[in-house]
Formats: sequence, C-alpha cells, structure tokens
Amino acid sequence: MSDGTTTVRALRERVAEFVHARDWEQYHRPTNLAKAISVEAAELLELFQWREDGEALGPAVRARIEEELSDVVIYCLSLANAMGLDLSEAVLDKLRRNEARYPVAEWRGRARDPATERDRVTPRTRRTRSRPGRRT
Ligand SMILES: [Mg+2]
Repeated sequence: MSDGTTTVRALRERVAEFVHARDWEQYHRPTNLAKAISVEAAELLELFQWREDGEALGPAVRARIEEELSDVVIYCLSLANAMGLDLSEAVLDKLRRNEARYPVAEWRGRARDPATERDRVTPRTRRTRSRPGRRT
C-alpha cells in the first residue's frame, strides 16, 4: 500500500479496526485525541531540536521522523473517526479558504504579512538599574 493506492477511508478503517480490537474507543474521546496529537507533534519536533537548518538527516533520524509523523496522522484519523468528521471534505474546504486568504498574487514567495511586520514591536532597551544600597 502506498499514497498512490491507499484512500483516506482505508486508513481510517484500519485505524478504527486497531482501536476497536483493543476496546480503546472508551479512551478515544476528542479531548484525549487532541492532546495525543499535540504530544506526538512535540515528539516529531524534538527530532529537529538543536539541528541546523538544512542539516542532512541520516537514515535513523528519517525513520524516527516517519514514525512520529505516522503517530500524528494516526491520531488525526482517529479524531476524525471519533467525531464523525469527513476529513477529505474538511481538508479540501480548509485549503479553499487558505487559497482565498493567501492569494498567490500577493503571497507567492512570502511567508509573513508585511502589514504585521511593520507593526512589530522593537525590543525594549535594557534599563539601567539604580545602585544597590540604602536610599538616602
Ligand atoms: Mg510517538
């Protein structure tokens, strides 16, 4: 099975079978699953901690990234199952809204909103501290 041949439905059913076989539906409440997604996303992020941008990743690290990314996706699919959400519809709808929010003509090659950047607060200057001791 690969991305080219596997449907979202097939993945959701496979996750549901895994959960059902263990009688874990009782634990797979939306709040628990949302927490689990966040925990697994943090585990994924940890693999990049202290690495330089563009640093080559060895096969062992890539395997760990694949594992943690899979954990995130599995919990996302499980959340969609628990809530009866149509994930494909939701993702495609969100992409349509993102396309409207970030028109290509304005956002191509740009990651930050120039209007927001103009309003950036400049770092505070360090305050000088008065000398310690008794006040006179
Ligand atoms: Mg994990």
